[in-house]
This record gives sequence, structure tokens and C-alpha cells, in this order.
Amino acid sequence: MSIMPHLAEPKPFQEKLLRWYREIARPLPWRYTKDPYAIWVSEVMLQQTRVDTVLSYFPRFLKAFPDVQRLASASEEQVLKAWEGLGYYGRARNLHKAAKILCDTNDPTVPDSEEALRSLPGIGDYIVAAVLSFAYRKPFAVLDGNVKRVLARLLAIDWAVNNAKAKPFFQQMAQDLLPAVASDLHNQAMMELGALVCTPRHPKCEGCPVSRFCLSRQNGWVDRFPVREKRRLVPIRRIVIAILVQKGGGVLLTRRPSEGLLGGLWEFPNTELDASMSFSEGIQQLCMRFSPVSDSFTRQSIGTVRHAYTHFKVLAQAFRVDIDAAPDAISETETCRWLNPGMLEDYPLSKITHKVLRLMGMKYR
Ligand code: SF4
Repeated sequence: MSIMPHLAEPKPFQEKLLRWYREIARPLPWRYTKDPYAIWVSEVMLQQTRVDTVLSYFPRFLKAFPDVQRLASASEEQVLKAWEGLGYYGRARNLHKAAKILCDTNDPTVPDSEEALRSLPGIGDYIVAAVLSFAYRKPFAVLDGNVKRVLARLLAIDWAVNNAKAKPFFQQMAQDLLPAVASDLHNQAMMELGALVCTPRHPKCEGCPVSRFCLSRQNGWVDRFPVREKRRLVPIRRIVIAILVQKGGGVLLTRRPSEGLLGGLWEFPNTELDASMSFSEGIQQLCMRFSPVSDSFTRQSIGTVRHAYTHFKVLAQAFRVDIDAAPDAISETETCRWLNPGMLEDYPLSKITHKVLRLMGMKYR
């Protein structure tokens, strides 16, 4: 038995959707290439990032790293610099690692099999399906947030779209709707429908090409779908940031560990505060790390910065800390450098660091 009796015969739906897509499809650059590498890069960028944002990064990234070999031979710092501002930096590091693995095997082509793709770092269900569908035209249904929302409304599915346990169910639905011919265009059309018509708020049902197939529309349930589970409140982390400035004007930058959140990016020295600690106590403690010169520090608050990550928010107080001590009082290492402000733009910086630079009247992006 089909899991969706409502669309047991999906051909009319598929044809209507495809006709509409052929008329209105946005001319996105990754839709005009069959280069598996370019498609892979675009899909990695598009995960959790808006199309408008990716449009500016995609051509720049391909210009810097036009193929797997060129990406593999770049340094991690170069890759992160090209990715700077896109967020979710683990995606860039994994892309880079995967390119190196492919080059190490002496076959630097993007794999065309599910198994080989899945063996690479950072490649999950979505990227597997997108690369196999868009680059190799294999019949894999692509399931992203837009497609889930369309399916939830079309078929009045009361599984929460943000419940991980519901994912196989939605995946099966998407697969059942996939036509044997032009499945890549069908996938694009489903995503385009979610992006342009069946939007999260105020879907444009009047102009929807598939409204006559839509259970929610027919029954007046559009407001009820998709169902979402309530998110837990995200915690707020308080941090202090020290912009250590030498007499000559150099500032201290530190590199985050390669693995983990914002891995490999550069930032001003900072520390997270205990619940009981004030910002002024925090900056005092942070300065003490740079002993034995801490007595000669003068500090001045330059403002507050806020930033939201997926699972927590950051409230940061930034301090300019002027140092009278000799320039070599804090020694340089691979992960700690004194830089003239003009050199900062050469380094991949975290979003919070950019926000602090803006507070100081310095802006590189
Ligand atoms: S009719 Fe409305 S709710 Fe149904 S798929 Fe179209 S836009 Fe979405």
C-alpha cells in the first residue's frame, strides 16, 4: 500500500509542478552546471544558508578553488577565509578534508555512488541526494526544509517537521513522489515551490500550481501545517573580549582549535564568565592570563556585542586593553599573533570579531 493514498497516482501532480518550474525557475548559477564539484560546493553552502547569501560566495569560492585538486592543495586558513561570514565552518573544513581524501585516492572526481559519497566527511543524506540527483541525474529525492514543509501541507502530515524521527517518513514521501524522468528537475521544483510559493508564513495558495492536489488547501488546514515541536529556550553565554593593543598599535589575535565551533578562525582573546562573575571581574581575570605585564594594563569598555548560534546566544562585553610593556611581552606562537590592524583582513575572523571591529570603527566586510 502506498503511504500516501491521496497522491497514489502522482503523474498529474508531477507534470503540473514541472511545467510551473520550467516557467518560473530562478536563474541560480548552480542550476546551469553539471560539474559535480561545483554542485557539491553549492549544496554544502546552501545547507542552513539563504540563497541570497550563497549567491555572492559561490562564484568567489569557485574562482579561488575551481576544482577538487585546487581545493585540496589550499591551506585550511585559505579555505576558511573564503568561507568567512557563511557560518557553520565545519562545512568548509569537511569540504576541504573530503577534497584531500579524493586527491589521495588518485581519483579527484566527486563520486557518483551513494556509498562512496557517504564515506567522505561532512556528507549526509541531503548532500548525497543532491549530488546524485543534480550532478548525475540519479533518482534520489532531495529533502530539505522547503520540501518537508511542502509535503507536510500537501499531504496534511501531522509529524513534526523538526522531529528527527519523522525524517525517514518524509524522505519516503518525497521518494514516492519522484518521477522516473527528470527527477533532478522535480527535486529543484519541489524546493522552488517551498522557497517561492509554499513559504513558511503566508503561503501563496491562490497562485500555487499544485493547489488542487493539496489536502491542507482543500480542507482549510493550511495554518495547521507544518507541525513543529517547540524549541527549548537557548541559553545565553556571557563572555568578555580583550582587544590587547601594543604601544605601536599592534593587536593580539588568537586562533581557535581546528576542531569544534568556529574551528580554525581567528579572534580576540576572550573568556566565558561564570554566572556569578561580572564583566569587570572577567576582564581582570582575562588580563591576568597575560601576566607578568598585567599591572601595566589600562582598560576601557568599548561596548556590547550579541550573536546567536543555533544552540546558544552570546552576550559579549568588549574591552580595549592598552599595554605599556615591551612588544615582546606576550610571545607569538602558531595560534597567537600580534598584527597591525591593516593585516586583520587577511585572516578568517569569527562573526563576533567582525562585530567588535565595527564597534571600534574598523570594518572589513
Ligand atoms: S496550496 Fe498552499 S499550502 Fe498547499 S502546497 Fe500550495 S502553497 Fe502550499
